Amino acid sequence: MKDLATGCRDVPLLRERGQREVFCGLTAIVWLHRKMQDAFFLVVGSRTCAHLLQSAAGVMIFAEPRFGTLILEETDLAGLADAHDELDREVEKLLSRRSDIRRLFLVGSCPSEVIKLDLEKAAERLSARHAPGTRVVNFSGSGIETTFTQGEDACLAAIAQGLPATEKRQLVLAGALPDVAQRQALDLLERMGVGPVAVLPTMDAGDPLAVGTNTVFALVQPFLAETHAALVRRGARHIPAAFPFGEQGTTAWLRAIAREFGVDDATFETVTAAPRDRARRAVARAAEPLSGRSLFLFPDSQLEIPLARFLTRECGMRAIEIGTPYVHRDIVGPDMELIADDPVFSEGQDVERQLDRARAACPDLTVCGLGLANPLEAEGLTTKWAIELVFTPIHFYEQAGDLAGLFSRPIRRRETLRLEMAG
Ligand code: SF4
Repeated sequence: MKDLATGCRDVPLLRERGQREVFCGLTAIVWLHRKMQDAFFLVVGSRTCAHLLQSAAGVMIFAEPRFGTLILEETDLAGLADAHDELDREVEKLLSRRSDIRRLFLVGSCPSEVIKLDLEKAAERLSARHAPGTRVVNFSGSGIETTFTQGEDACLAAIAQGLPATEKRQLVLAGALPDVAQRQALDLLERMGVGPVAVLPTMDAGDPLAVGTNTVFALVQPFLAETHAALVRRGARHIPAAFPFGEQGTTAWLRAIAREFGVDDATFETVTAAPRDRARRAVARAAEPLSGRSLFLFPDSQLEIPLARFLTRECGMRAIEIGTPYVHRDIVGPDMELIADDPVFSEGQDVERQLDRARAACPDLTVCGLGLANPLEAEGLTTKWAIELVFTPIHFYEQAGDLAGLFSRPIRRRETLRLEMAG
């Protein structure tokens, strides 16, 4: 039985460790390369990795592409020394052609991990060789036991680890946001007098960013567990809060920061009253088809818990099961506190068993990965692709209505189809 004072924060989890249906961390490169204008992501992987990247990115023709795959051949499995030499040669070639690359990320994959190619060592060696013009950092995008949003987490954690130290009192916002959402967050904070504020990741390598014991940080994405740990190791302190989805989530997130920086209530009200009102009205309009409907979330993006909080509290839905790859209560605890229903919280996945539970529950809306959506639609369930949520601006007040709209659209579409078939 859950304690009403803490919502679902302390509920026992249904832990599943079976077969999973998720994309790998290489997917994150598709949105990360847009946020870091002087970076290049070099995946050390196989043809499969190259295909995944290409299809995730769509068919994009760049004058100067900012990600690519160095393909390991079968012969590399035998000779690790050769693989290192080859990597050095390719990096040399790339950097001599592209003086605009200030940050080079060596991205590990399943094949590079299976053959134990030490990319950390390679990054150190190449960084020393190409400093100060280019910094080389490594992280893993491997799909072995990971989910696709962990690519961003691993990347930001690697950056955080190498940041210079500072004793400056500051706020760091951690997480790659679409520009429009990031601008809104910075504007709201500035109008409350909160500052200085830095963002991880920075747009350019030259943008100042350092970390230390007087740094406090707020996460804008719930999937940044490693980044959280890396910043804490560097002496920074986390400001725990519900995530800025919807009017209530955004207000809770801003209020936690405002408290930390001593912003008075009157200022907080002045800055937030109008956008809060706009957000409430936009959500009410867009969420109308969601009210009273049931919801089942499969584990995919790690956004599931904050989104379930938004959908149950602000859109009137009833959650049956909230599945998520990992539950980090330090990070999503404030959202769990605000979930008042009694859903099942499942962590990890055993896909066949979970599919059976979903079929038995027959939810009005199922949020899941691409691989499950089509078969479930064919069985008559209404689905929403979780991956869309990381490619669409959904944070903060001005996007709250759009966020509700993303979930109500599939329900509207299904109703239209039903009416057409009945007619
Ligand atoms: S990293 Fe692994 S899961 Fe991802 S595309 Fe490459 S081989 Fe596949």
